[in-house]
Amino acid sequence: MQFSYRCSDCGQPYTIDPKLTVCPTCAKQQAPDQPLRGVLEVELAGDADKEFDVFDLLPVPRPYFPPIPVGNTPLWQPVNLRRSLGFANLYIKDDGLNPTCSLKDRASFLVSAFAAQYGINEIVLASTGNAGSSMAGVAAAAGQKVTLFLPATAPEAKLIQALQYGATVHRVDGPYDAAYDLSLEYSNRFGGMNRSTAYNPMTLEGKKTVSLEIFQQLDDVPDYLFVSTGDGCILSGVYKGFQDLGHLGLIRRIPTVISVQAAGSDALHRAFQTGKFEARPSQTVADSICVDVPRNGRHALNQLHAHNGRVITVSDEEIIAAQARLSRTTGLFSEPAGAAAFAGFLKIKAELPPAAGIVILVTGNGLKDSIAARRGIAVPAETIQSLSDITKGS
Ligand SMILES: [Zn+2]
Repeated sequence: MQFSYRCSDCGQPYTIDPKLTVCPTCAKQQAPDQPLRGVLEVELAGDADKEFDVFDLLPVPRPYFPPIPVGNTPLWQPVNLRRSLGFANLYIKDDGLNPTCSLKDRASFLVSAFAAQYGINEIVLASTGNAGSSMAGVAAAAGQKVTLFLPATAPEAKLIQALQYGATVHRVDGPYDAAYDLSLEYSNRFGGMNRSTAYNPMTLEGKKTVSLEIFQQLDDVPDYLFVSTGDGCILSGVYKGFQDLGHLGLIRRIPTVISVQAAGSDALHRAFQTGKFEARPSQTVADSICVDVPRNGRHALNQLHAHNGRVITVSDEEIIAAQARLSRTTGLFSEPAGAAAFAGFLKIKAELPPAAGIVILVTGNGLKDSIAARRGIAVPAETIQSLSDITKGS
């Protein structure tokens, strides 16, 4: 298999090089508070059959990958949900079962291998939490150093997780967007590989593996895939996997991807309608998809338009209710961002054919932000000392 970069904006091809992050021509038109211009996509050329090994479709040779079991997450068949909702071919792809409990491990895994291939031992990034804790864990397996810029508002479990894996963490007094700018300033000044999403082409490329796995697990692609969306990087990674399968001649159609945003962080949703990105302060219980400026927004928007995708929004109340429903009917505790995808499905399910193949992508585990889940449950106020304190049957 041959690999190269191609600019997602102007189509210019480039040789893969760790010093190249975005297309230099398109980057000249970059405006502040706007999604990245010139996001580079990895392009592959070669042959593969249906039984392909996922590693063979990645642009870094296998020996450079760290010894940690990323990916191969289960595709659940939620029998109770299927029955209660009337969708016989509903599936849940549970990426909370990655080593650091989120889908971000797929990107970290490839970035770590890419850095190792070029002898780079420090990885720098900004994160709302999951990407940072993920990079810290995967890099720990690789023996690489991680410098992380994390908003001070990130859920504590994600901060603790990153520190536990040995990352150097700078807590930023500001939103993700401020952390993002600081991470770029840091890597420009002190070196290291910057892994901030979209800015590092390997983040999109690593995330494509989720679509490759879904294809192999279903022996086909689904009709609909629900993906929660913040900066648009997972969305683009999901599309990239299907596009690769198309280039290899293994599929003839790209699934309808439904991007689900939190109503309080809906920049892509607004741009889908108006064609323009407008930075607005964002707030949602789903911290992983809370961004003012979707860094990969331009690229994600182009893919949605090219493949007849949709963008919908759900309220925080809908997310919390969906999170609780998912847990109580399937035994899967998703973080709010993952539950947002399920909330999106619940919102538009009346529009979908009951026989359709539907995959809900759950992007992270609920224990990473247990405080958020408290909003959907009732913690007993009273403590007891003996069983006589319990009113049974009440
Ligand atoms: Zn370009």
